[in-house]
Amino acid sequence: MTDVMTEPTALILPPEAQDDLLTRGFNRRDLARFAAVFGVGAVAATTGRPAWAAAGVPDPAPSAKTRIGANECWTGPLMPGQIAASKMIAHSNRYSPHDERGDFIKAVMAIEGVPYDHVAPWPGSSDPLSRAVISYCSPTKGLVTADPTFELAGRTAEWIGAPVKRVPLTPDFRHDVKAMLAVDPNAGLYYICTPNNPTGTITPIADIEWLIKNKPEGSMVLVDEAYTHFAGVPVASSFVVTHKDVIVLRTFSKIFGMAGMRMGFIMTNPANIAKMMRYDGGMQSGALPLPSLACATASLTAKTLIAARKAEMEQARGMTIDHLKARGLSVVPTNANMVMIDWKTKAAKEVQAAFRTQSVEIGRSWPIWPTVSRITVGSMTDMKNFCMALDKVWVA
Ligand code: PLP
Repeated sequence: MTDVMTEPTALILPPEAQDDLLTRGFNRRDLARFAAVFGVGAVAATTGRPAWAAAGVPDPAPSAKTRIGANECWTGPLMPGQIAASKMIAHSNRYSPHDERGDFIKAVMAIEGVPYDHVAPWPGSSDPLSRAVISYCSPTKGLVTADPTFELAGRTAEWIGAPVKRVPLTPDFRHDVKAMLAVDPNAGLYYICTPNNPTGTITPIADIEWLIKNKPEGSMVLVDEAYTHFAGVPVASSFVVTHKDVIVLRTFSKIFGMAGMRMGFIMTNPANIAKMMRYDGGMQSGALPLPSLACATASLTAKTLIAARKAEMEQARGMTIDHLKARGLSVVPTNANMVMIDWKTKAAKEVQAAFRTQSVEIGRSWPIWPTVSRITVGSMTDMKNFCMALDKVWVA
């Protein structure tokens, strides 16, 4: 890679992180690259972003009237979150006026039933996702991921030089956990995204439990539940208490409408949290913007509003799917705020370009399914715009 910081940046990786990386088969040049992205100085680094860091972020298409391409929420934070964040601005002269980080963790404990020391807030879930890959994968310990799925884990693994195995979803769009274990029985990390991005489909908790129980000791299972509130299915939190090799990842960028506020958290054994923090001494997790923390704490507990938002999404999704079916198009049966549409005779990129002529920004496609586009479920108005545009651009 040419787009990397040069050797001296290795100095900003704490010595224990350097030792750990060197014993896992990385070299000194790798340390420099990793320091630029994950180290103490990473926030200040304006160059040196690896290719995957940009590639995972879809075009924001700010000029499109209807933006249903990036799996964002169609509206902003829940009202209790907005109020809490606004109030917090006036107290933001202090690094921590009360114990806002602690309050957030206690809210997670109450909802997820995990101990205090098993929770770490983070500014979004992209950073801990990549950090988990660098913490548990190496040139000799690979990553196993699904296909199609959210690409960040795979791209990070490729960037650090770890072997990557991509296993197609089952015919009913679950992660094929048995095939995932078989393809690399001693992987560093197994990545499960449920509901899966881009299909919106669930991998049953029993399948995840099977993987946790059958993988060898020392291999990690990372369960990314970014979209779980849209699905309302059993979650994997309890496994982080019973098994030390499990990490559960959450974000506030989806149903909570906080993508621009950068909030997420991980749940896992405290030793794993320490391991993931060793590259930057906990800077990312320890120093979160107070309005984001306050917004997240107030949002997490707003159960009725979360349920209402899920119901609103389901209504818009149902209307959209009915319209698509009436036009003879087939969709993957989804449990989340996204719909995969198979155009069959046309490349997804072509269809995306056609929608742009109608000021509708739809989502991308995945190489394994080049004729399938991901559509994020937006508001009812967004989806009516999408349907109207479809009727103009789509001729079967
Ligand atoms: N995980 C999944 C499955 C995602 O789809 C995304 C974003 O789209 C993320 C993680 C990262 O989101 P963020 O960094 O905004 O928390």
